Amino acid sequence: MSHQPIFENQAPGALAFETLGVHAGREELMALGVHALPLDLSSTYPIKDLARGGESLERMAMGGQDKECPVYSRLYNPTVGRFEEALAQLEGAEESVAFASGMAALTACLLAAKQKGGHVVAVRPLYGGSDHLIASGLLGLEVTWAEPDSIRAALRSDTSLVIVETPANPTLQLVDIESVVMQACGVPVLVDSTFATPVLQNPLKHGATLVLHSATKFLGGHGDVLAGVVATTAEWATELRKVRVITGSVLHPLAAYLLHRGLPTLALRVRAAQEGAQVIAQKLAAYPTVKAVHYPGLRSSETHGVMGHQMRGPGSLMAFEVENFEFASQVMANVKLMTPAVSLGSVDTLIQHPAALTHRVVDAAAKTQSGIGAGLLRLSVGLESPDDLWADLEQALVKAMAHTHADDYAS
Ligand SMILES: *Cc1c(COP(=O)(O)O)cnc(C)c1O
Repeated sequence: MSHQPIFENQAPGALAFETLGVHAGREELMALGVHALPLDLSSTYPIKDLARGGESLERMAMGGQDKECPVYSRLYNPTVGRFEEALAQLEGAEESVAFASGMAALTACLLAAKQKGGHVVAVRPLYGGSDHLIASGLLGLEVTWAEPDSIRAALRSDTSLVIVETPANPTLQLVDIESVVMQACGVPVLVDSTFATPVLQNPLKHGATLVLHSATKFLGGHGDVLAGVVATTAEWATELRKVRVITGSVLHPLAAYLLHRGLPTLALRVRAAQEGAQVIAQKLAAYPTVKAVHYPGLRSSETHGVMGHQMRGPGSLMAFEVENFEFASQVMANVKLMTPAVSLGSVDTLIQHPAALTHRVVDAAAKTQSGIGAGLLRLSVGLESPDDLWADLEQALVKAMAHTHADDYAS
């Protein structure tokens, strides 16, 4: 591990997640004589010694680090660096690398992988933007789409990455990471763990090589930051930083500051939202006009084995099915407390229609096969009272029913 333990003589893994959430990445603040995280907005840094500056630039251009002589903010920024240190500790990774967005993070992973081979294997469903990036061929990579249990058959000699998302956006399908790693036969596995956060799941512990977060979601948590981060080995982190330096997909220091500021409350936020989600999921499952609810917290064979072993809780995202597009659009149009909007993992509750919005650009047949239908709504439960949320959702469901079937009752 390249990062410093918080306390001297600290045994590995000795500190609880909650403690790390509060203290990780803040190790040097005492020496700096400050209590709050310093926000360094410098775009460039004075070069005291030209030879030293040149060496530092060369090292960082190749993905190395030189915190003492940052040269230029595209190469290194201490506010971003502290957030990366914190996130690495929360995921139990050697290092982490932060990017301007989740998509920038995935792009960097794909470009880094491409140096080793031009083929990737991916499991659907993925977030619509990720699906679009991989399916587009824009980066010159070929893809084979596989099922969670048919990874091995999809491997080629030039396969450089296996990509899965668990829980998957938007259907909440759970993928057994250990099974995928075993089938991947040594090919690095990337897990998009955005829905789980490091509070509920640590994919590296199950053999994954890279764990990706759209930090825009739970890590930011307040709907005011766009960011991505990848926690991984020191070797991969070097490759990712190299791609970041070359392509310029850096995270703004103010965004890193906001992300780091939110980490102490991450576990609290995730657990409180999860509690509310459990209530809403049960009410939805019992509601007559709701045809199905997909939530890992509802007992089912789909999630058996993975919950508990791989995940420490079901989280606060769910998807539910109503009659058709018209019904779904009326639910979205009639919620008053919830925000009809894409994105997720915020303190407030968001509801959206994946087929029309986040997964609009996904291949039509793949959408159908993944269960992203016209009647599917995705709900990201926030920190409001579950009673208030249910009252809101129920009145929207009632209005949607009345609207969709207005003709049935007309006389
Ligand atoms: C939102 C999201 C992304 C993309 O992240 P951005 O920060 O919007 O670029 C990737 N994966 C998942 C699972 C997401 O929900």
